[in-house]
Amino acid sequence: MSNVTQMKCACVDCLCVVNISVAVEKDQSYYCSEECANGHLSDVACCGHTGCNCHSK
Ligand SMILES: [Zn+2]
Ligand SMILES: [Zn+2]
Ligand SMILES: [Zn+2]
Repeated sequence: MSNVTQMKCACVDCLCVVNISVAVEKDQSYYCSEECANGHLSDVACCGHTGCNCHSK
């Protein structure tokens, strides 16, 4: 029996894998950052993780 403790960030364009215990939870989805959880509504570049282009233009 294995508990899943890591998931890909629910932001579709985000490549980050997050540990559920530290992830930002929103609507039963898990995100690596507040930016992703908020759908990048504010014009923040990305989740801030190196190599992630989840909010590139
Ligand atoms: Zn990311
Ligand atoms: Zn993310
Ligand atoms: Zn994102």
